[in-house]
Amino acid sequence: MRFSPEGYYVERYVKCANCGLLIYDQGVAGTGGTGLFCSAWCVAWDEQRQAGVEHPVLKLPTD
Ligand SMILES: [Zn+2]
Repeated sequence: MRFSPEGYYVERYVKCANCGLLIYDQGVAGTGGTGLFCSAWCVAWDEQRQAGVEHPVLKLPTD
C-alpha cells in the first residue's frame, strides 16, 4: 500500500509470503527471491524452511 499526497488509498495488496499479513510499506525482501515478508522474523522462518526445517522454532519477535 502506498500513501498518496491527498490521502490514503490501497494501491495493491501485498501479503507476507510466510504468515499472510498485509504489508503496508515496502516489506522485507526474503533471501533467495522467495517474496516479501512483513518482518525479519518471517524472513528467518522462511530461511529455516528453505534449509529443510519442517517446523521452525523461533523466538517471538521482541519489537
Ligand atoms: Zn509475516
